[in-house]
Amino acid sequence: MSAAPTPAAASGGCHGGRETMLEAARAAGKSEALDRYATDYPKGPHDQPQSMCPAFGSLRVGLRMRRVATILSGSACCVYGLTFTSHFYGAKRSVGYVPFNSESLVRGQLYEDIREAVFKTAKPEDYDAVVVINLCVPTASGVPLDLLPKQIDGVRVIGIDVPGFGVPTHAEAKDVLSGAMLKAARLEAEAGPVARPRGARDLPSVTLLGELFPADPAGVAAMLAPMELCVGPQVPAREWRDMYAALDCVAVGATHPFYVASVREFHEAGRPVVGSAPVGLEGTAAWLEAIGRAANVPADKIDAAKARTLSAIRTALEANPVRARVTVSGYEGSELLVARLLIEAGAEVPYVGTACPKTEWNAADLAWLQAHGAFVQFRASLEQDMHAMRDARPDLALGTTPLVQEAKQLGVPAAYFTNIVSARPLFGAAGVGAMAQIVAAQTRGAARFGEMREFFEGVGVRDVAGYGWQGVPDPHPESRAKFRKMREARVKAEAAVGT
Ligand code: SF4
Repeated sequence: MSAAPTPAAASGGCHGGRETMLEAARAAGKSEALDRYATDYPKGPHDQPQSMCPAFGSLRVGLRMRRVATILSGSACCVYGLTFTSHFYGAKRSVGYVPFNSESLVRGQLYEDIREAVFKTAKPEDYDAVVVINLCVPTASGVPLDLLPKQIDGVRVIGIDVPGFGVPTHAEAKDVLSGAMLKAARLEAEAGPVARPRGARDLPSVTLLGELFPADPAGVAAMLAPMELCVGPQVPAREWRDMYAALDCVAVGATHPFYVASVREFHEAGRPVVGSAPVGLEGTAAWLEAIGRAANVPADKIDAAKARTLSAIRTALEANPVRARVTVSGYEGSELLVARLLIEAGAEVPYVGTACPKTEWNAADLAWLQAHGAFVQFRASLEQDMHAMRDARPDLALGTTPLVQEAKQLGVPAAYFTNIVSARPLFGAAGVGAMAQIVAAQTRGAARFGEMREFFEGVGVRDVAGYGWQGVPDPHPESRAKFRKMREARVKAEAAVGT
């Protein structure tokens, strides 16, 4: 039964004070999960990148799977935001929600309500698994999802805590659920026969870790064919039984480097894991070599795979040179790969910022980028990304929504990493062509950005910003001065208290 929450836990949230929430969660018995997250997803230099609610990553992974139900347990405002975002990104599925109030939280009734919802949902004719996600307040209150039954009539029950004060990014939250599911699937496979994965595979397979553009796995399959390897189901998976096939591989390509809990499960299953990905000429050569060796492929077959793929990439690079200075920022985990590809295509990339951490699986990309003059910032804050973009004055800034907005205000061509870059192929020759097209299309309009900036100069910025004006609003510099004085006085008063 859950411990009674502290008042801070009951009222906290994104703005409730991270340390207070952490303290409450530890006091309520969540130390083990929080310690594991602290090891798997190390913080620093910036603790909490400014991105969406981390739980969205877990929610998305569950919603994309066939025959998997997802139930959220959290504050209504969090659930509203998360369901809104999931439907914005095209989830055609319902999201379950177990609401609570102060009383049901304090008396431990929330756990009973979740349990009842799980029993009602877990029907084997409808689902293979039910995922329950504790958001910030239930985690800080110690709602014990680990006490839920592991299976109900053959339907697995996967309960995870995904608090914003324990999991830094939504990228890493994808790993929290993927890792938990892989663990359950691995234990099932170890205990006895499991369902046969869809689609027969005649060749030993390689599992790709990370959400990829749909054409990329097919491109990788063509690269692996001369080594007599195929691409198996990806993780995050699309179906429960895919996880058995993903585990039953000869090697894993950690193409996104933050799947630490998932990697742990592959290691437990005795599978070798290879970092980086087949991007550009050098990246692809190194990746094919590493995968071939991990899968014990004879050297002549590795050479044959490299010869075939690399000649196509070389031709694509010659046909698609990129002549531009580009800054790269994002929170998806593929930022270093994108920067590698840009540099190989001829671009100058002075800065790469990623909300994700440095791991063993992006170490080779980091070394390569540093050797090619790029500054790489892990756990980058929006301020660091903005500063780098202003400082570098690139021909194109790839980044998150607020960065792109700032770039456009400065008259710098900019494109959204998620909507533009991640919506195109990245690997092999296809990636080269796609990247060149993105840069050409976005930089072509550089003059237009300048004209727009000139046209809107001074409108809707600083103290003349706002909606509903008929004309250009009047500036009010005296208000600005008044609030500045108040701030200065408050700082002085606080300093005086300390002396
Ligand atoms: S669950 Fe997400 S939106 Fe809600 S308080 Fe936590 S981090 Fe914020």
